[in-house]
Amino acid sequence: MSVPSGVVVVGASAAGLATAEALRRKGYRGEVSVVGAEPHLPYDRPPLSKQVLSGAWDPKRARLRTEETLAALRAEFVLGDPAVALDAGSRTVRTASGRVLGGDAVVVATGLRPRTLPGQDGLSGVHVLRTLDDALALRGELKESVRVVVVGEGVLGAEIAATARGLGAEVTMAGPQPAPLAAQLGPMVAELLADLHAERGVALRLGAGVTGLTGQDGRVTGVRLGTGEVLPADVVVVAIGAEPATGWLAGSGLRVADGVVCDSRCRAADGVYAAGDVARWEHATLGSLRLENRTNAVEQALAVADNILGAERHYTPVPYFWTDQFDAKIHVFGLPSATAEVSVVEGDPAGRRFVALYREDGRATGVLGWNMPKQARLHRQELVAAVTPAV
Ligand SMILES: Cc1cc2nc3c(=O)[nH]c(=O)nc-3n(C[C@H](O)[C@H](O)[C@H](O)COP(=O)(O)OP(=O)(O)OC[C@H]3O[C@@H](n4cnc5c(N)ncnc54)[C@H](O)[C@@H]3O)c2cc1C
Repeated sequence: MSVPSGVVVVGASAAGLATAEALRRKGYRGEVSVVGAEPHLPYDRPPLSKQVLSGAWDPKRARLRTEETLAALRAEFVLGDPAVALDAGSRTVRTASGRVLGGDAVVVATGLRPRTLPGQDGLSGVHVLRTLDDALALRGELKESVRVVVVGEGVLGAEIAATARGLGAEVTMAGPQPAPLAAQLGPMVAELLADLHAERGVALRLGAGVTGLTGQDGRVTGVRLGTGEVLPADVVVVAIGAEPATGWLAGSGLRVADGVVCDSRCRAADGVYAAGDVARWEHATLGSLRLENRTNAVEQALAVADNILGAERHYTPVPYFWTDQFDAKIHVFGLPSATAEVSVVEGDPAGRRFVALYREDGRATGVLGWNMPKQARLHRQELVAAVTPAV
């Protein structure tokens, strides 16, 4: 493919910004437009459930770049104007305000939209947490002794519960799994997380599905469990996962199946690529994959930029995410699962400093470090051979 004369990036966040920056770093001189649904300059999401939610950071600190750095990028940022349509054949993007942007390459980097519970939209006091505005709205309601129910026992729910508890709220975590992150990390680590949350005063009402919300005069009053029990609440945070933000791609000609379906080079169609949380691509050794984590957003954007410039690079990362809950800093490499065999290879879970290795069919599939980042990174090496395709 010849070098494109213009690139349109849809999504002005981690993956979108990293794509534009990588193109410039590699010497690309054509036009770059970055279209963003939100009015804000690109900001980072991981601090939203931690430092921004706790109030430790002024929201401006979550910005990914200064205005000067963005200006030096020589990209047009079209913000607060979501893309509403893409024609993959002609590689044109239409925005809500009616602008039409065309390029020889288009990058879809629109991330995720949070799932919601039936009836939550009509009730005040019910929150999701995906955007800066979401974080500030929730922050405004988190006070000492306020009764918060977090619906969802995954990474995001557990982080929000920890931060809200740190602010003195009375926090209950609810969800169908028996312990936080049980589905992702298996029983050994999940039970340690359950102990940590319980010790710090988070009430765990796990193992029962949530069927709905109760309210009065338009304000939420509780969370109804599958058992019929109602957990009283002043504030509810719904953290039950998210779906790829692909609604705007209807009729685009792209294949969408839990993400924008791409080949092993992150290409969805001729000249059309996807990066970050929204992208489902063919990992040469791990199969069809879509990752929802910060590191992937940037690494995949780099691969996309390379491929826009003609590199034909297969994208084969070792997956990685981290999570911070109370004083636990957890680093996870590879694809651990609830069914893997888990062994502690460094440290001691009782002392809350350890590295665990996940194995399936005798093969290393994941490494988890709990307050042992350096050692976890060293053990990551055990995954590289399994994940890197033979040349
Ligand atoms: C609260 C929170 C905490 C997190 N903590 C961690 C963590 O500790 N560790 C970790 O590894 N990962 C964490 N993550 C995940 C990480 O932030 C994401 O993986 C990363 O932001 C993905 O980047 P992205 O650019 O693909 O998508 P996003 O960051 O979701 O960006 C997509 C952008 O596209 C915009 N958009 C959507 N639709 C359109 C449209 N039609 N037109 C134009 N723009 C559109 C959105 O408004 C958004 O700005 C966290 C996520 C959240 C929400």
